[in-house]
Amino acid sequence: MKVNPLDLKAQYKTIRDEILKAVQKVCDSQWCVLGENVSGLEAEVAAFTNSPHGIGVASGTDALLLSLMAMGVGPGDSVITTPYTFFSTAGSIARLGAKTIFVDIDPLTYNINPGALSAELDKRVKAGEKVKAIIPVHLYGQCADMGPIMATARKHGARVVEDACQAIGATHKGKQAGSIGDTGCFSFYPSKNIGGLGDGGMVTARTKKTAELVRMLRVHGCKDRYYHKYVGINSRLDEIQAAALRVKLKYIEDWTAAREACAALYEGLFEKAGLTDIVRLPAATPGSRHVYNQYVVSVEKKRDALKDYLAKEGVGSAIYYPVPLHLQECFKELGYRKGSMPVSERAAKETLALPIYPELSAAKQRYVVKSVAAFFSKAG
Ligand SMILES: *Cc1c(COP(=O)(O)O)cnc(C)c1O
Repeated sequence: MKVNPLDLKAQYKTIRDEILKAVQKVCDSQWCVLGENVSGLEAEVAAFTNSPHGIGVASGTDALLLSLMAMGVGPGDSVITTPYTFFSTAGSIARLGAKTIFVDIDPLTYNINPGALSAELDKRVKAGEKVKAIIPVHLYGQCADMGPIMATARKHGARVVEDACQAIGATHKGKQAGSIGDTGCFSFYPSKNIGGLGDGGMVTARTKKTAELVRMLRVHGCKDRYYHKYVGINSRLDEIQAAALRVKLKYIEDWTAAREACAALYEGLFEKAGLTDIVRLPAATPGSRHVYNQYVVSVEKKRDALKDYLAKEGVGSAIYYPVPLHLQECFKELGYRKGSMPVSERAAKETLALPIYPELSAAKQRYVVKSVAAFFSKAG
């Protein structure tokens, strides 16, 4: 049996006619960027995430970059985030000439540790650093612990950019991911829970002022064309992407429920196989919704050997992420070393993402767990 980590074709099959019709309509109209589909998608994502404003942009990376630009982040400022995330979370800080401060993660959720965040922010502010923003990441589809994070931010007047790129539809204590901080950043990269036919992203914003700034900054900082109030970037969202995403957004509830069902089935299967002492399953915080963009387990030993064995058995798995950002070559100058962020470094060695997508069959899941079990019975 072959089980891919992700099977985009399986989903496409179920909506092919609708997607082709929507794309054809855009082609026939020849309105290619920032048209009615983009504004439609903005309204729909804003409504879905319970946010007052949505601004379509070219990628999740740009959503982060534009959020920070709208907050005036630049040289001389610092921004705090987690080292255990996709590159662009910290990349967007560096691109604005600001300094990244990393704070280690919680070992169970892999999200930024709120206690450590509070201590770090206190320390930096005391030392006279200008910490302008915090970027909590809702990793794998589960919200960071936003209550204490927002309290810490408010205490010091720092803004909060939620990196919700993996977490559309996730909730934290009844609140939608992306609706809690000053802005929320979403990615429509094809492997995300709602993915386009290419790149795309969205910023959700609490205030009209921030929303208008992002709206201007995505088109080179102008409101009236060719009259530039700010220096922005080109981050227009394509109509074809928006049209396809609007089709997909209609199914988000079903697809999220299917991901949750996959997670529940994995849990049952791992328990039945007696593997939960060796394989630590994702810890979903009670009262919050985990949308399982990834189903990430952790094994204390032999993670790489397990991955190789699964590949040999036809089961694709992935490591998110093998090198925490504080140890990336490009961030050398920040002065972090091996051992600076022990929880993230450990996670980088022990975590493994197993296949998950809404169309994943129970038979395939059983095969995945059977293969994991076979590896550990051989490995002893
Ligand atoms: C995917 C992702 C991004 C970037 O989104 P792109 O659309 O690929 O630019 C940022 N942060 C996280 C956590 C992501 O998973």
